[in-house]
Amino acid sequence: MIIDSIKTLDIERNQTENVGQNMYQLITKLYPICRSITGDGVRETLNIIKSFIPLEVHEVPSGIEVYDWTVPKEWNIRDAYIKNDRGEKIVDFRNSNLHVINYSIPVNQKMSLAQLKEHLFTLPDYPDWIPYRTTYYKESWGFCLTHNQYLELADGEYEVVIDSSLEAGYLTYGEYFIAGETTEEVLISCHTCHPSLGNDNLSGISVAVFLAQHLSKLQNRYSYRFLFIPGTIGSVTWLCQNEAKVTNIKHGLVLTCVGDGGKFTYKKSRQGKAEIDKIAQYVLANSGKEYEVIDFFPYGYDERQYCSPGFNLAVGCFMRSPHGSFPEYHTSADNLDFVQPEYVADSYHQCLSILQILENNKTYLNQNPKCEPRLGKRGLYRAIGGQAEEALNELAILWVLNLADGEHTLLDMAQRSGMAINVINKAAIALLKHDLLKEISA
Ligand code: ZN
Repeated sequence: MIIDSIKTLDIERNQTENVGQNMYQLITKLYPICRSITGDGVRETLNIIKSFIPLEVHEVPSGIEVYDWTVPKEWNIRDAYIKNDRGEKIVDFRNSNLHVINYSIPVNQKMSLAQLKEHLFTLPDYPDWIPYRTTYYKESWGFCLTHNQYLELADGEYEVVIDSSLEAGYLTYGEYFIAGETTEEVLISCHTCHPSLGNDNLSGISVAVFLAQHLSKLQNRYSYRFLFIPGTIGSVTWLCQNEAKVTNIKHGLVLTCVGDGGKFTYKKSRQGKAEIDKIAQYVLANSGKEYEVIDFFPYGYDERQYCSPGFNLAVGCFMRSPHGSFPEYHTSADNLDFVQPEYVADSYHQCLSILQILENNKTYLNQNPKCEPRLGKRGLYRAIGGQAEEALNELAILWVLNLADGEHTLLDMAQRSGMAINVINKAAIALLKHDLLKEISA
């Protein structure tokens, strides 16, 4: 972001007023698609994202070894149902793609209720919800249904059809790179493998898309790399195939579960005290919203791979309610009602604030460090007398000069002074213009 733009740290709310509605529209469009870790649902999803940002779509062939993993066969599904002996469809994939266990092998057979029940999954505690289940790495099949549906099943013969295919194909993912002033990168990663689930993770996809769209219009200090990948196997594959690029990644965020009404949760990177960790904590502490910052643990989303010891990247995970902490998680209740425009918009604003501070979080050196420089003759002192806001700015100028010893970032200065970071930033910009500060390159 260019230095002359004094507003860089102020979120321009008017400009982003409709962003919540726009993000929600994207979520609504993506919601019906049956995604998985591979297959046409992912391609269709990436194609829709392409209408927002010029995504590069990569196809990695099945069978390729990626570290200790193998890119799986590609799964596609056209239809699936269970019919009772009266020929009535009692479970229908066309009503909800969650009805079929994701990655189910093809099935076309008749069976007794007892045989069928071995392949049925329900949530007795939430009898109206359909669970979401997967069988990516074990060839199997099954159906998920509401517990109420399950209780209605009578003895008899059932016709079970899963019109799917599990064959050599590709793992598909999307990547969007925005070149900045430096080759140092910020990684924004989200998973694209969940079918009709809103919070996990259409919310993360939509925030990533709109952040990318916004950043693409700016002149950024950092380069930005957006990854739209299947969970786990996607990040393993990307890291394995792009190891040479990994050293450029200096900061990063995994975005997931950012569309529900719960409090914000930031999960720190494995490093724990990385710049992104400090900034995320600062932004949430100053957001006026409820939030929690939690330490890294090796369970969750793709931060597990980015923070594996062989990479140990400064990548945290930005969420509202963490996975597993809300009953709707991995069920049909994680739907378009559970996710709301105001919540995704709020998540977008917090993420944007994090990135804006990151962009501006520079370290400076006072060019007149022996005693204070005379600010009055430069028009930096009491330029407009008597105004409380101007007095604040003077204090900010004095703080910046005092802490511009090459040891303090802009965030350090804001925290040490207790002043808002945008006020500190404005002071730093004014001092730079008068050659009283010099930026230290990292
Ligand atoms: Zn999930």
